[in-house]
Amino acid sequence: MVNNRNILVNWILCCIFLRTAWGSSKYEIDEFNLKYYNLTLDKELSLVNKNEDNVLLPFNITRVPGTKESLFIQSYIQKYYNNTMENDWDLEIDQFEASGYNFTNIVYTLNPDAKRFVVLSAHYDSKLEPKGFIGGMDSAAPCAILLYVSRFIDQVYSQDKLNIDGEMGVKIVFFDGEEAFKEWSDTDSLYGSRHLAKKWAQEGVIEQIETFVLLDLIGSEGNHTIPTYYRKGHKQYRLLNDIEDAFLQTVYGEQTKKHKELNKRERGFLSMNQLLIDDDHAPFWRQGVPVLHLIPNPFPPVWHTIDDDFHHLDQGNINKWAILMCEYLQTRMAFPNE
Ligand SMILES: [Zn+2]
Repeated sequence: MVNNRNILVNWILCCIFLRTAWGSSKYEIDEFNLKYYNLTLDKELSLVNKNEDNVLLPFNITRVPGTKESLFIQSYIQKYYNNTMENDWDLEIDQFEASGYNFTNIVYTLNPDAKRFVVLSAHYDSKLEPKGFIGGMDSAAPCAILLYVSRFIDQVYSQDKLNIDGEMGVKIVFFDGEEAFKEWSDTDSLYGSRHLAKKWAQEGVIEQIETFVLLDLIGSEGNHTIPTYYRKGHKQYRLLNDIEDAFLQTVYGEQTKKHKELNKRERGFLSMNQLLIDDDHAPFWRQGVPVLHLIPNPFPPVWHTIDDDFHHLDQGNINKWAILMCEYLQTRMAFPNE
């Protein structure tokens, strides 16, 4: 005789096992988060919807170090954190002079007493030449995405603190002086990141960085590929790859025509594990910090041309990276060791 009760118990056990096995390999985007993106993305990161909550359009100006436009963006960033955050974010201003220019890195930290930090970064300065260069993807859009992600994690921190590991904190870095003034060299480029990496090495912050994420050349039109570059950051790349898979199944995935940018199986750069693209992560990478460098390869065709403007940005791609970064950061804050 078949014992119906045993069949039922076995079936339940089997379901639990399947759920666990499935859950460990598949990322899911929370319904609650999707509602949040639905309510906020069009207001805050729209290329066309002009309103006071829009954090992208204010970056549609030149941002050469030391100019009044650069000062405007600096105060815009600071006003944003002062006016919209519910938690106390610690402000670090790293100001210095080099090669006759004044530079200002801006760093905001959530949970400054944390032992370990995830760093998200982008550069807010724009190239001196060609005249009028805006740098839509380089890096206006990445900076706006960082503002959006900051507000998201701020809300998570207020409303869902139980799911945040108390030892974890977030640092959001807006670098100045990434671009060269004349020709790219070790001394004419990365002014801000070189200065901050040195300062953080002296202060002991470098050892506290779990992952250093840098967004650059993100948000432009066209289909891009973002490879995995460094062994120390590859675990984080895999997590982001799984988040991207989940993202492509949402309505926002449709906006990007379900184009996949990450590929965890393409290991060309990973096998070399060398600094092949010089960028703001370099001074931190050289000090042994695990880096996740989010930059397309090859670079989008508008790179360093006057066409890298807001007309060549892509709404679907901007929304995508905002969502990917929110999901990534929330996961890291909740499960730092996974
Ligand atoms: Zn550039």
